[in-house]
Amino acid sequence: MHLEEVEVSWVDLALRAEVGTSGGVHGRRPVVLLRVVCDGQEGWGECGALLQGTLVDPPTDRVWDLLVDHVVPRLLQATQGQGGEVPGLHDLAAACLPADGGVPQRMAWASVEMALLDAALRRAGDPLARHLGVPRTTVPYGGVAGIPDHHTVATLLSEVQRIVDAGAARVRLKIAPGWDITPVAAVRSQFPALALQVDANGAYCLGTDDDSDAEKLVDLDGFGLTCIEQPMEPGDLHGHAVLAERLDTLVALDESLGSVADLERALAAGACEVACLKPARLGGIDMLGRAASVCAASGTPAFVGGFFETGLARAVNACLAGLPGLTLPGDVSAPTGYLAVDPAPWPPFEGSGVPVWHEPGVGPAPTSEVLTRFTRKVRRFEVPDRVVDRTPGSRPDRTPGSTG
Ligand code: MG
Repeated sequence: MHLEEVEVSWVDLALRAEVGTSGGVHGRRPVVLLRVVCDGQEGWGECGALLQGTLVDPPTDRVWDLLVDHVVPRLLQATQGQGGEVPGLHDLAAACLPADGGVPQRMAWASVEMALLDAALRRAGDPLARHLGVPRTTVPYGGVAGIPDHHTVATLLSEVQRIVDAGAARVRLKIAPGWDITPVAAVRSQFPALALQVDANGAYCLGTDDDSDAEKLVDLDGFGLTCIEQPMEPGDLHGHAVLAERLDTLVALDESLGSVADLERALAAGACEVACLKPARLGGIDMLGRAASVCAASGTPAFVGGFFETGLARAVNACLAGLPGLTLPGDVSAPTGYLAVDPAPWPPFEGSGVPVWHEPGVGPAPTSEVLTRFTRKVRRFEVPDRVVDRTPGSRPDRTPGSTG
């Protein structure tokens, strides 16, 4: 493919309602989108970074800087080295990711991979599902209920009811020290047959004598939870292995899994009985596929985790959730449930399963109307030796202004 255009946009979105976690509250949801044109075909990529980041994931502005200062320039350099032809994605990943790169670099790269693959698939007329060999047409999905203001149980119960009514196959509750046993008991009492799991986002530790003592989590064993996700700090594999021995409930890891190598280390340590795999953090579609294979080979249940994506990256996640190693419902609900406005809306659908994207490309392209309203800054890149169709009107200007 001949690379013709590259553009990075910052789109300022908001969640419908704030989502509380043990680490803070998510409200604004700026998203960085990458647009490429190859052989006249547009392709879109999306970056998963959240406004303030997480324990291990970089904030949005950090990934923006990485993309515009390092990753896209490396893409252009590698492409120029091949006379304007985009190298294969494996070679390009090696060129764009520094050997000592971490989660921030992988997150930036994932959006480049998505955009280039989207352009290639659209040009070939292939959906991502066919490219990956995913035969499913729908996948079950799970919902997430945050920590409500003032720890109000009634608010939590109505939120869980809303998620269940929308067709979710499971619900994940955010917990924190002081907000764990009581909400789980209340939800389990009202929803005795619901597939339920909890997510502590690393808020507990072993050996304390207060609410944050991870030993307390043994009290959740009686509630039939699918798993307890990321009870302790991401780097504490030994602690998670110890806890996994003590609890009947399976211990899941999320933030600890920043790469496929991290997953393999966690499995070897006995610290990961269930894996929450996030393609944006692991380094994209190819890396998620590798992680899913590792889970399948080891018999470890796994699910696709989300970052409040737009319809574009959600469609990717829904497709990935159909890979053989992803045995549990993922965070692949429709973005209309959490985004005030989705720039890349899916066609309406009903029922308990989320449709796997079956049109050419990786997912729905962002609409120019929403981008025009919410794009705050754009960086366009000069592509060396590019071949551009300069026919007036060949590409409408999708964004309000440019920073260069
Ligand atoms: Mg989590």
